Amino acid sequence: MFSYTDPIGDDAVLSSLGSSGIGEPARDALRLSRQAEARALLMAHRIGEAAYDDMLVFLSPGRQMMVRKHAEKAAVGEISLQLGLSRTKAGTWYQLGIALQQFPKIRMAYLAGDLSTHRMSVLIHAAEAASDIAPGAPTEPEAPDVDSPDVDSPETDTPETDFEDIALDLAERPTTDTVLRDALEELVISLDPDDATEAREEFGRAWENVAISNDSSGHINIDACVPAEFGVYLRDRIAALIAARICRRDPRTLGQQRVVAMAALMGTPGADLVCQCGDENCHPNGERDTTQPPNGAPAVPLTQPDRQADERDRADTEPTSDTALTPAAPWTLVLDPAGTAVPRLHGYGAIDPAHAEHLHDRSIEILLRNNVERGPWGRLVVTDRAAAPPVDPTGHGGHALPPPGALTYTPSRRLRDEIQQSDLTCRYPWCSRPAHECDLDHLVKFDHADPLVGGWTLPENIAPLCRPDHQRKHLALWLPTMHLDRSITWTNPTTGRQLTTYPR
Ligand SMILES: [Zn+2]
Ligand SMILES: [Zn+2]
Repeated sequence: MFSYTDPIGDDAVLSSLGSSGIGEPARDALRLSRQAEARALLMAHRIGEAAYDDMLVFLSPGRQMMVRKHAEKAAVGEISLQLGLSRTKAGTWYQLGIALQQFPKIRMAYLAGDLSTHRMSVLIHAAEAASDIAPGAPTEPEAPDVDSPDVDSPETDTPETDFEDIALDLAERPTTDTVLRDALEELVISLDPDDATEAREEFGRAWENVAISNDSSGHINIDACVPAEFGVYLRDRIAALIAARICRRDPRTLGQQRVVAMAALMGTPGADLVCQCGDENCHPNGERDTTQPPNGAPAVPLTQPDRQADERDRADTEPTSDTALTPAAPWTLVLDPAGTAVPRLHGYGAIDPAHAEHLHDRSIEILLRNNVERGPWGRLVVTDRAAAPPVDPTGHGGHALPPPGALTYTPSRRLRDEIQQSDLTCRYPWCSRPAHECDLDHLVKFDHADPLVGGWTLPENIAPLCRPDHQRKHLALWLPTMHLDRSITWTNPTTGRQLTTYPR
């Protein structure tokens, strides 16, 4: 279709194309660009490697650390000059090139054009974390464990090749890089929770920071790396304050609203989040706003939440519209009573068990209910999902008679929890919106006039979809089919192309 050498000709081809049927050639072009970038990156690594080796010969064999540091600088500098890349990008490519030598399956998928450079780097970082805990990797000498005399020859039941296979399987799914990273993190934590705790502490020592640096036009940039719970707390409080104070007619961008909300939360003089809609009677969120303390900080309960009561509450009542404003506890944890599944922090994702333990006293805890198949990788069991047939197309989940609640439009709290725990995110392809922020959509439409005839309120007929994707679903550009394993196949009725999303 394209010459790739004649821009004028290729431009003419582009303007002559219709809009239909170009998805496939566009995907081919994208794959080609990834294949080309993979080769460029690996060649950059070779350039760097050669410069590194030259430098080692040139430098006298003195202090090893210094010599290696200089050699690495020479490598990155040479890549930068030869390829016309910034030092930062040259450094990233050089390091990725080194890491790719260790992981042949990821390297091949990258060369085949299956992965963007960023997605490959997500896989590489997880594979490195997993291989750190794999037997044979250099570890700090530990005090001998009296219970296991053969510490020198640990069991080798988690070879890193398995990790690459599973990681590549996860990478094939139509998920964002963020969702992929979370799934891989869950995997790494499940392999060795103690090592994950150590890695988290090490990460904190290396990267935790608040950098406040001057931008232009009278602005300053704030760039921070903080523990997940701090970030979740701040994000929730900012969102709650905006919801309480600002109505839809406020002319500011959401970004501007967040800036004022954050400043108000910090008690910055003059920063007070007031709706600018111009309506004196603006009540964005009913009477709730009056419950807020005057300084703008959302109320935080002074007493410990009664977790037992809360659990009962969650199980028995319908969801309230907005619990974020007056949280019973700052955080919500999803825990597995059996201790197999990796704990999750709402608003972040998988966290190591020690991290969950640290947040335990100040969190609402949701216990995992559904007992899905669990393998050595925690909940992430890769099975032959192609074998799962579609569910009953009537939306009745194979039931002859409606189970309790099936004819009620709004799912019970129990059903909602169950679906949020199994699905984690919006089930539309390429969306990373957390399930607890999504609508619960009836895949086969609920019939308010005759609930018995329409789709029922059952796990087999309900999937979380974020608001924009919920609307997209109604445009019917991609049609969903739920399967018995809760995978959902989205079919484009024009091209027949299918994308499959999975519960966790
Ligand atoms: Zn307003
Ligand atoms: Zn979505």
